[in-house]
Amino acid sequence: MRDGTGCPAVDRDRVTVRFSRSECAPCLLQRHTVRIPVSNLWNCDPARVRALLPRVPLRAYLPDVIRKLVLFDIDGTLLHTHGAGRRAIHAALQGEIGALAADSRVRFDGKTDPQIVRELLDEVAHADRDNAARIAAVCERYVELLAVELEAGTCRTTVYPGITELLDGLEARHDALLGLLTGNVASGARLKLAAAGIDPDRFLVGAFGSDHHERAQLPPIAAGRAEPLMARVPTGSEIVIIGDTPADMTCGQGVGARPIGVATGSYSRADLDAAGAFATFEDLSETGPVLDAIYA
Ligand SMILES: [Mg+2]
Repeated sequence: MRDGTGCPAVDRDRVTVRFSRSECAPCLLQRHTVRIPVSNLWNCDPARVRALLPRVPLRAYLPDVIRKLVLFDIDGTLLHTHGAGRRAIHAALQGEIGALAADSRVRFDGKTDPQIVRELLDEVAHADRDNAARIAAVCERYVELLAVELEAGTCRTTVYPGITELLDGLEARHDALLGLLTGNVASGARLKLAAAGIDPDRFLVGAFGSDHHERAQLPPIAAGRAEPLMARVPTGSEIVIIGDTPADMTCGQGVGARPIGVATGSYSRADLDAAGAFATFEDLSETGPVLDAIYA
């Protein structure tokens, strides 16, 4: 059965029609794609389908062919906010609790936002250091202040070399799902990405500091969130974690994830190798070798 345009008839609520190679293109052009079964789409030429569709709907409906969940850390890996995050979190702590060590020695990299706040409180032996509600309130205020910091004319958020090309390269494939695995609370992650000119919606899966204060708890959360898109919970080397700290290299051990290190943050390749990296790079500017490591 066909409609007046020559395309197969489509029930808007549930697409049941089977597309042949010749039929799929005009239908996809009409956006009759939302609920097309994978088996039907896969009868089409994937390159042709990809060219016709926005990337998100297509990628979401090709779970059988998604081989990798590629999870990116943000700070030190994708971008650098030049201290905006640190300034905002310090100001939030001062404003909400009025407590901050004059010469704080707490490192931020590799940690979740709630973990950072807790350590800053611990540094001054504050009574609320184990108070999850107070820590959450500081994180909420932090995001408000982060937005101000990132919009300030004095602040510039920069993207590291090769990031744009790597994200484009992964999206150009039909077998990778882009995701985030970051200690940032989710709203803070979006702000930083947007400030860097990276569309946060490119990442279809995410696990954040707002999900759990321990980074090692985040990979299983991300894997679980990928299930609807991959038709399975990915495990082992199906999951790739790209980050700039030893914590990024070790956090996925519980699910057997493949860690790839990049030395654009504060740690060297040797540090990341020592933490168990599958591969390390000075930066991610050589897209080919990075893709090789992801898919090896
Ligand atoms: Mg980082």
